[in-house]
Amino acid sequence: MTQTFAASPPLHDVSLREEVNARLRDVPDFPKPGILFKDMTPVLADPRLLGRVVDAMAAPFQGQHITHVVGIEARGFLLGAPLALKLQAGFVPARKPGKLPARTRTERYSLEYGEDGLQMHEDALAAGARVLIVDDLLATGGTAAAAGRLVAQLGGELVGYSFLIALDFLPGRERLGRDKVHALLSY
Ligand code: AMP
Repeated sequence: MTQTFAASPPLHDVSLREEVNARLRDVPDFPKPGILFKDMTPVLADPRLLGRVVDAMAAPFQGQHITHVVGIEARGFLLGAPLALKLQAGFVPARKPGKLPARTRTERYSLEYGEDGLQMHEDALAAGARVLIVDDLLATGGTAAAAGRLVAQLGGELVGYSFLIALDFLPGRERLGRDKVHALLSY
């Protein structure tokens, strides 16, 4: 796959994008044939780089009065919790069905074969919550859209989505609304 950066990133982001791009590990045919898996674990293992990534993913949402960051299981937890701290917001997990212990709400979404779901605790968002949804990667947008519907079910206002990576040859941005999506890297 040809890897290109998004058109005209802000100048101060260019070196960060290049560093992250160099550290992401491409794993072909994982978890199934035809998928080029973008492995972010080398970024997590570098505290200096991770700190800069979290700052850059939070930056567009500073001053937007985010009260809650919803992280999508599982890599969205790893980026979402430090982002919540950075934005001085609460962290809320959106988990695969059957993992959360208290009363939940569910949204289902389709996969290539079959379907999956996400759940949140039904009392997870306070009235007037202004929510940022976080995950490592945006592909078709089905997962993040389900998280967005959960936020709406729970009465939250969805301010936007922050991803480390967006695969722009897939329709994720259109599906979620271009103005709502921020991604540090685009391929
Ligand atoms: P989608 O619902 O199609 O946007 O898929 C996004 C979810 O699947 C995210 O939680 C990603 O972590 C994961 N995912 C999809 N494609 C990839 C990929 N190529 N590399 C790493 N994770 C992926």
